[in-house]
Amino acid sequence: MNIAVIGTGYVGLVTGTCFAETGNQVTCIDIDAKKIEMLNGGELPIYEPDLDVLYARNRAQGRLTFTTDLAEGIAGAELIMLALPTPPDEDGSADLSHILAVAEDLGRLLTEYRVIVTKSTVPVGTADLVREAIAGNAKTDFDVVSNPEFLREGFAVSDFMKPERIVIGTSSDRARRIMERLTAPFVRQGNPVIYMDERSAEMTKYAANAFLAMKISYMNEIANLCERIGADVDHVRRGIGTDNRIGKRFLFPGIGYGGSCFPKDVQALARMASEAEYSFDILDAVMRVNQQQKTVLIPRIEALFGSDLADKKFAIWGLAFKPNTDDIREAPSLFVIEELRRRGAAISVYDPEAMENVKPLLGDEVEYAENYYAAVQDADAIVIVTEWAVFRNPDFKRIAEAMKSKVIFDGRNLYEVELMRELGFHYESVGRKGTRPDAS
Ligand code: NAD
Repeated sequence: MNIAVIGTGYVGLVTGTCFAETGNQVTCIDIDAKKIEMLNGGELPIYEPDLDVLYARNRAQGRLTFTTDLAEGIAGAELIMLALPTPPDEDGSADLSHILAVAEDLGRLLTEYRVIVTKSTVPVGTADLVREAIAGNAKTDFDVVSNPEFLREGFAVSDFMKPERIVIGTSSDRARRIMERLTAPFVRQGNPVIYMDERSAEMTKYAANAFLAMKISYMNEIANLCERIGADVDHVRRGIGTDNRIGKRFLFPGIGYGGSCFPKDVQALARMASEAEYSFDILDAVMRVNQQQKTVLIPRIEALFGSDLADKKFAIWGLAFKPNTDDIREAPSLFVIEELRRRGAAISVYDPEAMENVKPLLGDEVEYAENYYAAVQDADAIVIVTEWAVFRNPDFKRIAEAMKSKVIFDGRNLYEVELMRELGFHYESVGRKGTRPDAS
């Protein structure tokens, strides 16, 4: 099939590359000329495990091309996928301006029947708006399909190639037949392609993300309570995770969720609810809990060092909002750094992939270390923000020698409390016994 993907970011680039991998002819389109220039020059603008191999192969074999020209990019494409950004508006609802502007342009450019597929996360009713925007200019027949994307950054290629399920919202048989051909190679093992109406498909994506965000916030509250009443969240997590109704995943407490999806999607769903005059109380609590959780380590840092941190240096391990990505959108690291900077602290940071992305935001406010050992040189404390695998088994002797004092604030519970005690570290983590040295 001949496919155009509009928007070549984390979703669009993975989508386009994986469709090329299953033999389709794919053109990726983006208004960011620098990004397209990089992609045409053989360079990936994002870090995503395994994407490099598929990108190189499909580009070399001529199935994957890139352009900034919308008309050229969609020429001949039976399917046009929209992987455009839907950032939060001032009031928290999803900003549809990118999607609707492109839809209007598409209306002018379509010359024969096409299926326009929305992969972006969009509020319920957007398929109708896209249809109207295209129809306002179109002289031909077309269908609009909602196909929300469930890939996770850090696992995007494997999630896309072997999805647990594919959700497709369409009321058109013609579009459905085309989508069946498109998706068949990805569900050969029998995972379901779930067909529904467009509105339900749009809602499914928000319902999934808000549920996962709720699970994280719930566990963070359990962890906070465990600390106060002498229970250990690690035991509690294992105890409840073995219940199939609950499941093992998304039960790890920490310093809050971030990223380009959960924060904005929970907000957008809350906004949708309030527009429908429905009071979705759980969502408000999820957002409030997460906001507080991002800075949960700060009072503990103050308890140890005082509120004036002017003569203190902190090493921040991890900047990306989660491991295996370079994405720093809404990353907890940025909130922690801001709070520490406000108290006058000096900061050195290290992240395996996200350093270049924070430089435009933080400039020379922080020191960029070459590796995680360099970051701790003369530091008064380490603050662990992202659970990159490489932080899990460091050389603690080397760390202790380099630091001014042996203090670790661990926002991701990477180490055994007992081991830290044996090694003589002042070690604080989230929701575990012995987390606070003065507690049980
Ligand atoms: P992104 O910001 O990484 O990429 C969007 C791209 O669209 C950018 O490269 C931008 O330059 C381009 N763009 C903007 N306006 C354009 C236009 N008029 N024409 C062509 N290109 C244009 O965003 P993303 O993370 O890929 O997310 C895209 C959508 O997918 C969002 O709705 C998001 O909520 C959803 N989503 C994201 C993820 C994820 O993990 N990132 C997962 C599932 C769904």
